[in-house]
Amino acid sequence: MIEIDGQTRLLGIVGWPIEHTLSPAMHNAAFAALGMNWAYLALPVPPRQLGTALLGMVALGFRGGNVTVPHKQAVMPYLNDITKSAQAIGAVNTIVVKENGRMVGHNTDWMGFLAALREKSFEPRGRRALVLGAGGAARAVAYALARSGRQVVILNRTLLRAQALVEHLAPSVPASSLSSRPLSHDALAEEAARADLLVNTTPVGMWPHEEASLWPDTVPFPHHLVTCDLIYRPRETKLLRQARRAGAEIINGMGMLVRQGALAFRLWTGHPPPLEVMRAACEQALGKNRTSRISR
Ligand code: NAP
Repeated sequence: MIEIDGQTRLLGIVGWPIEHTLSPAMHNAAFAALGMNWAYLALPVPPRQLGTALLGMVALGFRGGNVTVPHKQAVMPYLNDITKSAQAIGAVNTIVVKENGRMVGHNTDWMGFLAALREKSFEPRGRRALVLGAGGAARAVAYALARSGRQVVILNRTLLRAQALVEHLAPSVPASSLSSRPLSHDALAEEAARADLLVNTTPVGMWPHEEASLWPDTVPFPHHLVTCDLIYRPRETKLLRQARRAGAEIINGMGMLVRQGALAFRLWTGHPPPLEVMRAACEQALGKNRTSRISR
């Protein structure tokens, strides 16, 4: 347990709602394991209070924190500096408050995603990736994959949103590495046959709708397709089950969650993050919250 005193350095995650976030468990376990006098809080901030809350964090001496749904884009105008990659993606998930009180916005999701692939011995460089969804998480994933030299096809229910994603990322990734199509069973089967990586960035299959999957039951799942689902609750979504049963390799969202947190930990503290402590804390918190909704 961390003993809070007059020298405790504060961090927090800003979101709405936020009560079931795993991040405080992950970071506080890391601080306790390293004997660091830091504490990480869950901060429920409604959208209309975002600017006031950020100024309040600086005034109260917070060293930074994380940003989650629905604030990852909305937070950007309040920050003093934003890294190139966070600007390219168009979202901030980590804030560092410098000694002079300036707030710097980072995005650790994209590197966390690549690190999660690598920890499963999957080399992000390669042929063609299929990304399902075009929301905030898809932007970080598509940026990461296109920067790694892949062709990336975005399939999304709303084509306009997928096109906007491609347009937004185009200046920061190799030319013609991104394309988009409307999501349909035919498009999915066709594109899956040409890809070696499938990433689900939609919430389809997330608790409590665990029986949902974007992959149709009537189409055999390609066994060559390494399949990654950003969802970590449940640990194995129906999509991952379909892939595993076909003999494909599967990766759930826990690795990305821990890796983006580990990258943020290093930005705030300068210390190497205790990865396994952080992973175990997330798994334990997930077990405790079996019947409630989880967010970052
Ligand atoms: P978001 O911005 O709301 O985007 C959601 C995307 O999913 C949109 O493209 C949406 O399509 C699509 N979608 C939603 N319901 C659908 C359905 N029934 N059928 C087809 N498409 C559907 O959300 P986000 O922030 O990107 O987060 C998405 C997921 O990633 C969540 O499950 C989140 O927990 C997870 N995530 C995990 C991590 C991690 O560290 N593991 C990090 C970030 C996010 P439309 O555009 O048509 O609405």
